[in-house]
Amino acid sequence: MPFSLICPNKGCGKTQEPYIDPKDDKVYCSLCDKEISNITNFTKIQMKSLKQFRPKNIMSFSVKCLKCQKEARPNIVNNDVICSGCLKPMDHLSVPFKNMLKDQLKKVGQDV
Ligand SMILES: [Zn+2]
Ligand SMILES: [Zn+2]
Repeated sequence: MPFSLICPNKGCGKTQEPYIDPKDDKVYCSLCDKEISNITNFTKIQMKSLKQFRPKNIMSFSVKCLKCQKEARPNIVNNDVICSGCLKPMDHLSVPFKNMLKDQLKKVGQDV
């Protein structure tokens, strides 16, 4: 059962399931993305054990390359997923994930 609370931020105030960013140990509203400050350490520990972490920003589609360790949006070349850092195929990715990436990268374009 995920932990939910009412967002105290102005203009939001909705009940949502917040998430914790393990990098700065702060809790954020999942709707307005603002910090929720009055979170006790106990709750933070609970959230961590529930793995309520900040969701990956799916719009950036960055993937970590196992060959050069760079995390970036890959390129699609000849219908294959190519690392934009070392220009090698990212063959560690699963086929469904590659297909999803191809689809999404076509939609967002190669403009970044
Ligand atoms: Zn909010
Ligand atoms: Zn690479």
